[in-house]
Amino acid sequence: GKPVVVIVGRPNVGKSTLFNRLVGQKLALVDDQPGVTRDRRAGDATLLGLDFTLIDTAGFETEDEQTLPGRMRAQTQAAVREADVALFLIDGRAGLTPLDREIANWLRGLDTPIVLAANKCEGKAGEAGRLEAYELGLGEPFAMSAEHGEGVVDLFEGLREHI
Ligand code: GDP
Ligand code: MG
Repeated sequence: GKPVVVIVGRPNVGKSTLFNRLVGQKLALVDDQPGVTRDRRAGDATLLGLDFTLIDTAGFETEDEQTLPGRMRAQTQAAVREADVALFLIDGRAGLTPLDREIANWLRGLDTPIVLAANKCEGKAGEAGRLEAYELGLGEPFAMSAEHGEGVVDLFEGLREHI
């Protein structure tokens, strides 16, 4: 079948916005409030002629470790393990958060290849956050904007290496 790309990251970094842009159907809910994407959602995506199945996840939608919704986190973790490549989004404007670092630590222990991107980097925004993301030890972060459709070529090249 088609290669599988999974989008992973903490709440509000723009995972569902990117999913909707690439899949071209409003299959994933986007909202300012964390916790809106209830389950992983899959769709057929096309990027510069590259066809793949794209999965949107929401397994880190709580910052409260005590009340982790285990089923959602387990679904996200399974999706990442089963994917050909995981696109790990951070928010370039916000910079790294403890949850970004926690997710990165978990991703580093998996066999799934990781492509790291700093989202919300339209124009010249988010460059400090992008540079900070080198600290995650997951390779070179590239700048993109899911909302404005920027960074498409870098995204294509990052994914193309693995699918
Ligand atoms: P998710 O929780 O990771 O799925 O994030 P969403 O896709 O729901 O987006 C969270 C918020 O960030 C929404 O208000 C989006 O409009 C906004 N957002 C998403 N992508 C971008 C972007 O590239 N630039 C900016 N400035 N905002 C964005
Ligand atoms: Mg979402």
